[in-house]
Parts: sequence; structure tokens; C-alpha cells
Amino acid sequence: MILELIVPRCLPVAPRPVAGELLSSWIERIAAANAITGAELLKSVTDCLSMERQHALLDYCLAPTLRCALAIAGRVSDLDVQALELGNQFRNLQPEWVLPGAKVVLIPVAKPGICTECIAEQHIAGVPMHLRAEWALAFLTHCPKHFRWLSISCPICYCSGSYAFTAAASNLLCARCGHPIPLHFFTGDYKASTVAVVLLGSQMLRTIKGLPPDPFWLGAISAERFLSTINDILRLLTHRENGEGSILANSLGPCEFSSYQPLTRGIEHPPLCTLPARLRLTLMAALAQFLLGPRSAAYFESAQNVRASEKPCYPLSRMALAPDEWEFLETRLRFWPFYLRERLSAALGHMGTRRPQAKAARPELEFLFLST
Ligand SMILES: [Zn+2]
Ligand SMILES: [Zn+2]
Repeated sequence: MILELIVPRCLPVAPRPVAGELLSSWIERIAAANAITGAELLKSVTDCLSMERQHALLDYCLAPTLRCALAIAGRVSDLDVQALELGNQFRNLQPEWVLPGAKVVLIPVAKPGICTECIAEQHIAGVPMHLRAEWALAFLTHCPKHFRWLSISCPICYCSGSYAFTAAASNLLCARCGHPIPLHFFTGDYKASTVAVVLLGSQMLRTIKGLPPDPFWLGAISAERFLSTINDILRLLTHRENGEGSILANSLGPCEFSSYQPLTRGIEHPPLCTLPARLRLTLMAALAQFLLGPRSAAYFESAQNVRASEKPCYPLSRMALAPDEWEFLETRLRFWPFYLRERLSAALGHMGTRRPQAKAARPELEFLFLST
């Protein structure tokens, strides 16, 4: 419940943002320092705006009026707030890759996670506890530094993705039940298959910052081309007509990463950012296998001991494309690296037959974020 409060335009306590912090994390810290919640702070500054809609896209890019109101409330400049927006922290970032962190029509809430080891490091270094901007990126399911699973649940109420800061900023609490989140309880997963998926996520993180990608994945290509190719493949992996993403993910992803987490019915083409963490991991593993191609066997047990007749065994080989997916591919493939185009046409082979029925167009992301 959000209380009707009279909140001063300029808040009495205004902790500074930390470099690389998630925008909503800074908002929560300001709110906690003034004994209100982030939702109450937002409500107080967005009276004339639709709060849910603003909140859904909050971390990516703010409306100028909201940015100005937050800058006044937190006693920083507009530019300081703008610098925290994910679109500015990561200049090659696709909006579809940002976890909304708020209610989305018909589908479960996908919220930024935390790396408990990074939080513990902040505590030791005396830096205010905060959420890192990259934890809101849908393709990162593990911390690229510590390889820890980011979707941490509260040990008492099992709620995940809802964390609250105390006014003293020395504790991270479960926002639902108030229990402290233990910082040294969870261990990293260093299996070769997980390492491959996390390394791919790290490369994507590097390239959305504008840095050149490691040629290991797609050869010597620019950051923009690397990301657009990956975006095309992720779109193919999520843009399916058979409804439940978990069925799709399980049929495409390597079996080490099978997920049985169902999606809410009614969303046929869920963007990556709306998927639960387990499904995103499955899809990222499928993507890693496709990009690695024959090298997959070095990382994924499921890619080993495959008979020659079953090759190519990479995830996209099990897709039968719908007419609009063919159309999509025909317009996009010329931008892909040549050998990847070859791999896809070999992979689709007999499975890549056109389906006769037409399919509705994918709903726009904006539509999905409309409040109910
Ligand atoms: Zn970490
Ligand atoms: Zn809890």
C-alpha cells in the first residue's frame, strides 16, 4: 500500500548516487534515508503522471519532468540523474534487455537481482550498499565477476527481487518480510556450461558499453554488429507462436539448463526482459550453444557424444519457422557473419519448412508495459 504523504519537493537527507548504480537503487536509498518508500517518493513527484507506466521504464530512461522532479528531491543536477539512466550507462543497450522491475500486463514481475558477494564487497569498502546497473540487464543471470546467481530469494519468505535499504544503508533487507538478506550464504557455480553462459553475458555487457567484443564469439566484428546479430537470435528464440515460453526454452536450450517454470498463458511472444530468471538462463544457454557451434562440446555435456547423423545439434536446428519468422530472417541475415548464416541454414535444413498459417504480429514492448 502506498500512503498519501506530504513529501517536501527537496528532501532533507539526500545520499549521493554511486557511479554505476541502478537508478531505482538510488531512489530507494534516498527514500529510505527520509523514512519513506521508493514508491511513495515516486508518487509524490509523479502526481500528474501514470506512476506504473513511469516505473516500468524507470531504469532505462526517464521522462524529462520526472527526471527534473527527482533531481530536485535528491538535490543533484538533472545531468547526475540522467547519467544513471541505463540508456546512458550502456549506449548500445536495447530496451528489451532491461528488466522492468514493475508490474507488466499478464506476466510475472521480472526484477533486478543482486550478487551477494558484490554487496558484501561494498560493505567492506565502506561504499553505501546499492544495486549495480548491470543487475537490471535481462541477459545477465549471474554476476560476471563472481559467477553468482543474481536472482536471490529471501531465506524466510522466498520472495526474490525485492530488496529494501535501511536508513543507515548498512543492511540489505527483504522488502516483503524485512529479514536481512544473508551475504555469505550463496556460492558461485563454476561448471563449464555456466562459465560459457556467464562469459557470453559478460561479452554482451562489454559491447553495450561500446567496447569491441572478444573475437572468440563471432570473430572480429564491431560491437554494434555483434549485438544486432545476438538480438536477432534472441528474437527468434523468444518470438514463438506456441504460447508457453517454458516449452520453447526446454525444446531449444541444452538439457543442463532445463526450466520447468511456466509462463502465464496469453503472452505468446514474451520479450526476454519479461521472462523469469530460469527461462532467461535457458535461452542464454541456447544462444551460447548456437554461437559456439562445434565448440559447444567443450562446455556443454549435452553437446558431447552426438552422432554424426544428428549434427548440427545446436538449438536452432529444432526450430520450425513460421512465415513471419522467415520474413524476419530474410531481412536480417545479410547483417550476420557469413559462417553463422551458413550454420543457421545448415541447422534449419529439413526442420526449417514454412508453416502455412499466418501469425499475428508481435505486440510492441510499449504495449506490454501499459498498466492494468
Ligand atoms: Zn558479484
Ligand atoms: Zn522475506
